[in-house]
Amino acid sequence: MYPDLLGAWHPTDNAPLSPHDLPPSSTQIVRWCCPINPAHSWREAVHDFVQHAREGRPCIICEHGWSLDTLKLFLETLLPHLNELNSSELFLIAQQAGLLDTTGDTNKVIRSLIDQSLQRDDLAGLLTGKQSLHQLATRRPPPGLSRNEDELPQLQTFDLLSAYDSPLFPIQDERAIAYLIESGVQKLWRRTLEHPEETLASLNHTPDTPYATHIKTRFLDEYAAVNALTIPPDYALRIDGVPTPPSLLQRLLAYRIGTRRRTGIFTGTGSGKTIAALLGSRVINARVTVILSPHYVVPMWEEVILNAFPNSEVCTGTLSPVWKTPTGPRYLVLHYELLQLPKSEDQLRRFIERHPDLDCCLVDEQHLSKVRHPNQLSLRRQRLNLFTTLAAQQTPDFALVAMSATPILNTLEEGRSTLELIRGEALPHLETAATIPNAMRIHQEIVLSGFRWIPPYPMRYQEEHVEIDCTADVPRIQSLPSSAGILELEQILYTIRLPALLRLLTPKTMIYTNMIEGIVEPLAQAIRSAGWRLGLFTGEHKDGVGDFLHGDTQILIVSDVAAVGFDGFQRVCHRLICLNTPFTAGLYDQLRGRLLRLGQPHHTVEVFLLIAVATIGTSRWSWDREKLARLHFKRSLADAAVDGIVPDTPLQSQQQAYRHLMGWLSRLGTPAATLGHNS
Ligand SMILES: [Zn+2]
Repeated sequence: MYPDLLGAWHPTDNAPLSPHDLPPSSTQIVRWCCPINPAHSWREAVHDFVQHAREGRPCIICEHGWSLDTLKLFLETLLPHLNELNSSELFLIAQQAGLLDTTGDTNKVIRSLIDQSLQRDDLAGLLTGKQSLHQLATRRPPPGLSRNEDELPQLQTFDLLSAYDSPLFPIQDERAIAYLIESGVQKLWRRTLEHPEETLASLNHTPDTPYATHIKTRFLDEYAAVNALTIPPDYALRIDGVPTPPSLLQRLLAYRIGTRRRTGIFTGTGSGKTIAALLGSRVINARVTVILSPHYVVPMWEEVILNAFPNSEVCTGTLSPVWKTPTGPRYLVLHYELLQLPKSEDQLRRFIERHPDLDCCLVDEQHLSKVRHPNQLSLRRQRLNLFTTLAAQQTPDFALVAMSATPILNTLEEGRSTLELIRGEALPHLETAATIPNAMRIHQEIVLSGFRWIPPYPMRYQEEHVEIDCTADVPRIQSLPSSAGILELEQILYTIRLPALLRLLTPKTMIYTNMIEGIVEPLAQAIRSAGWRLGLFTGEHKDGVGDFLHGDTQILIVSDVAAVGFDGFQRVCHRLICLNTPFTAGLYDQLRGRLLRLGQPHHTVEVFLLIAVATIGTSRWSWDREKLARLHFKRSLADAAVDGIVPDTPLQSQQQAYRHLMGWLSRLGTPAATLGHNS
């Protein structure tokens, strides 16, 4: 073999043959790998390879694209690692290998591989010839069978780490390498948070390969530092009167605030983000910390600060605080509305001038506080940017922590803007059009910018789907004018769901609706007429909360406002009825997270979803089922970007899903003809 071609010799698969044993004219068939793209690998006689390599075309996949044989070699290399790679990592591999651009059956099989609806056994069948590519491509299992990293059998730490040293991973792209390493470290952390002893013990028996060793060392160094973290002596948190030390997760997050300064906390609801962020502010000895939060969460912040660090001073709701102890640790809790007043900009500048000791800013759920007009949101963003930029210029080590269980709810713009806030710079190269490659890029950056973990809930979660037949109402739905939208459809469905909802009421039940107009008022009347004491927490009316938490209000109607950040419902309520189904999994997680969290005294949290279904001939129509399917299969773009879960069908916006379903309904023809005896 010629020395300059040795790089294409497959490093492992040709043993015991050595390239030095073979002359360039040899007809021996061996395995080669592409000098440009490590995911390209094929078998070919030495002299054939030498011939086209000498013509400047060393890789037959770069040259001719994927064939069934080269695809099989690729899958053969991938197979041992399949269970340990999440779908964003598989996406990255397929993208780098050029497999996303394939067509036909190959493309279908690759997509099933990425969304993890194809399993090891299916692929093994292809490799042994028991199944054809076409069979695999057409025999896709129904959605929902796809698995999730966190549901895998635990503790295959050996396999997890060896996956990163498979020859499939791209080694040229620095950002991709950084992502893969951080993704591996976070996987080890998540396993450790759930099964500390087993995971740490299993790390003694891990592969000795470069990436595996690198990831393991990074993790173990951080683990040691997190355990050695000094908890400030004035930490005094008590929960229900019991002194409560910080959890391992809270120590980790506080440590990362200390070392990274600008970071995201993207852990699930109820995981203790608030304490983690406050602990972080103490770890860096912040003198003044500004907290920005939704309006109704301000009192909670004040309470928790004084509970965890009683020697703190807390001011709320003003940009001109007057401090009683101008040297001790001080916290200013502001709600976002304060950023969008006409005088806000001057006040922010003056605040920063007067506070050279401003060391830290905690930004709590910045996307989720609802605004009436989009330009208010952008004004708020501008002011937030101005504030954090000026603060960072004034204090070199300024810490900024973005906190959210759901950093993206709807659009990729939200993801980019969170990343820009954390990095303190514009990221125009991150594209935000609703495509899967864009979502995956943003996912990689989210992983690099913050820590994500959804804790297993300590209490049981029971979700009941209450099916309501709306067949008789199909003519009403069909006669909606084409100018009508989701609100009008929901107004009709509300009347259909109401009787079932009234039957489900018991004292201390929460009712969620994402539509207000024409729904909340009649709903409130109907509930009061049924004899219940009712409160409202819907953006317009927030007065019902106090009496629901502490008084004799029995039923509380909440809107999206309540789904975000509010802590306290779980102490009095374990029963939630969704009048309509939230449209994104992120919002649904937020909503359930109000009850599924620390301080919930009941063993079981019950959530009821009211599902209207029409039967038309042999078909079933259901707007609610459509939304539910999205939630359960996590098909939305937000999930792709936050959790790296690649959707298994084309991405649809809420409006597209609506038009799709209504179009289907109108194609059925006139109600009288189709409904037959059902009407
Ligand atoms: Zn190639």
